Amino acid sequence: MELVLGGVERARARLQYGAKPVVRISRDLTHPWARRFSIAHELGHVVLRHPPHDHAHATPSRGPLARRAPDIEIEANAFAAELLMPTSLVRARCEVSPLDLAIAHGIAQDFRVTVVAAARRVVELTSERATMVYAERGAIRWARSSPALPWELTRGQRLHPASVAADYFRAGMLDERAQAIPVGAWFPEDRAGDAELVEHSLVLADPPAVLSLLWIPEAAAARLRFDETSQSMEQDVVADLIDLLRGVYQ
Ligand SMILES: [Zn+2]
Repeated sequence: MELVLGGVERARARLQYGAKPVVRISRDLTHPWARRFSIAHELGHVVLRHPPHDHAHATPSRGPLARRAPDIEIEANAFAAELLMPTSLVRARCEVSPLDLAIAHGIAQDFRVTVVAAARRVVELTSERATMVYAERGAIRWARSSPALPWELTRGQRLHPASVAADYFRAGMLDERAQAIPVGAWFPEDRAGDAELVEHSLVLADPPAVLSLLWIPEAAAARLRFDETSQSMEQDVVADLIDLLRGVYQ
């Protein structure tokens, strides 16, 4: 596999098939740790012998291949996450209480990945109830919940004024300390009652965005209604995963 810098527009990376696969990395993707994830993702397509398709991750394609695209993107991301942050080395670090972005920071530093990629790995591997959220322009761009939390957040949803993340889009700054706020600031109030979760939000510079980790402590979870999982959840799974990939690969 050959690595080439440049020659990619509106995407982080692109894979060209041939006798020798070529991975092109965008010059706009300057963060070396973000490049590592993109390269690992493209390597995943090659190693997993995925059929050629549009690997630009930029414009949604149409036709039969578009149907398959989400599956192979999910697989390539899973490959990259496992290659760079192996479950055997990372899982134990995600099994802590309280759960906050300091865990993701530590993983990012030690495994040389972005804090966003590390936070996503934390919610994938933890047995705590947690959600990570990537927000831009005052709205949720993508989000992912841990297996223990049967609640998902919707792409495009405006941030609730009571959330810490909303402060940044309103005032240009936020308190980057983990803090207790009403569960209803993020999730529907009819399920939340007056329970509190812990929100840890962090401002990301380029592009301006907020990364949030929402953690529901055991004591709060005991007061929440998890039995009424939304009926549309299963139907939303695929759309949710596509949103996830857009967030990582925009
Ligand atoms: Zn891909």
